Amino acid sequence: MKEFIIIGAGQSGLSIAYNLSKNNKDYLILDANEHVGAPWLKRWDSLKLFTPTEYNHLPGMKFPFPKGYYPNKYEVADYLKSYVEQFSLPIEFNQKVTSIKKVDGIFEITSATGSYQAKQVIIATGPFHTPFTPPCHVDIAENITQLHSEHYKSPAQLQDGDCLVVGAGDSGVQILSEIAETGRTTYFSGTDKITAIPQSFLGKTLWWWFTKIGFLSVTRDSKIGKWLSKGVQPVIGTDVKSLLAKKNVIHVGRTLSADKTSIKFQKGSISNIKNIVWATGFKPNFFWIENITFDEMNYPSNHRGVSRDVEGLYFIGLPWLYTRGSATLGGVWKDAEYLMDYIQNKNKENIVANDMVDLEQAY
Ligand SMILES: Cc1cc2nc3c(=O)[nH]c(=O)nc-3n(C[C@H](O)[C@H](O)[C@H](O)COP(=O)(O)OP(=O)(O)OC[C@H]3O[C@@H](n4cnc5c(N)ncnc54)[C@H](O)[C@@H]3O)c2cc1C
Repeated sequence: MKEFIIIGAGQSGLSIAYNLSKNNKDYLILDANEHVGAPWLKRWDSLKLFTPTEYNHLPGMKFPFPKGYYPNKYEVADYLKSYVEQFSLPIEFNQKVTSIKKVDGIFEITSATGSYQAKQVIIATGPFHTPFTPPCHVDIAENITQLHSEHYKSPAQLQDGDCLVVGAGDSGVQILSEIAETGRTTYFSGTDKITAIPQSFLGKTLWWWFTKIGFLSVTRDSKIGKWLSKGVQPVIGTDVKSLLAKKNVIHVGRTLSADKTSIKFQKGSISNIKNIVWATGFKPNFFWIENITFDEMNYPSNHRGVSRDVEGLYFIGLPWLYTRGSATLGGVWKDAEYLMDYIQNKNKENIVANDMVDLEQAY
């Protein structure tokens, strides 16, 4: 039996592992993938981070590129690999955990090929679990290529002919931009009222400004944090106005329904589409953990990563776990340190005092 088991070897799992190692704790990391960095490598080929080097450091090891550089997905995966090597973090790969339950004070963890026991468990499985595709996709003719953004790599996967990209988030507009570059007619489905923020202005990066104005310290429990965390997140670094003004990019509004011959949008029907990329997001899946409750978005109930339901169960890496920075490379250290402090002290007064400091910094 281990003192701690961490589920997930992404940036969040590695950050809490670093803290456990530093405090000489007995622990193991289980990960469903075959190697560290796999979720990054599975994303599309041209993906570059929207955070420059100086906002990508995990605790204890700097991201190894010059300030102001925007790394690609391969560089992120290499960094995570070096991080594991540098701190000799113990990971068992190919272990997708399918259930966790607490029996007589001990967590029983079951994966596809093994079972484990631990006194405490930290869930670091990320926010992206089940790709969501609108139900009408099943009505679309089989000779149309359909890909969720999870499986999209590059325009080379598409057949000749027009393409539809659905989704107005970061991934949607980045994929739209890349496909439109091929010159084909590219339909864009989603709202065109997108708030887009450039990657830098007045000679400073966006993340420099975010830090300067305190945006990254605004907590989810504050008034502004509640509003920001529930709202639509702005698109970062894509010039959406110029993209939608391109001759071969046609905005069709929301996708309403489909049949074998055509797809119906807010702005009419189209029947000549040969490819569709669904950049329509993911649903969280934490239903394999027994005896926990969920918030309205189906994320587990917690306060700063401490489960509200099961003692000894923790979460890290959820969007807005505490601040906007919680689900970023350079921001997760703060939640990892907080959890470590909580685990070490289990001292409520200390925790409340830390919260107050953060709230003060936010204003
Ligand atoms: C397109 C895109 C661009 C992004 N750009 C940036 C950026 O520029 N800057 C930035 O800071 N952040 C960026 N992010 C956000 C963030 O850094 C990532 O979402 C990050 O991958 C989340 O880290 P994580 O460790 O919490 O989860 P993940 O990286 O998803 O890792 C979770 C791990 O858990 C494992 N796992 C999942 N379920 C199980 C299970 N049941 N059993 C065992 N193991 C399991 C997975 O195999 C995986 O290795 C981006 C995200 C996306 C999607």
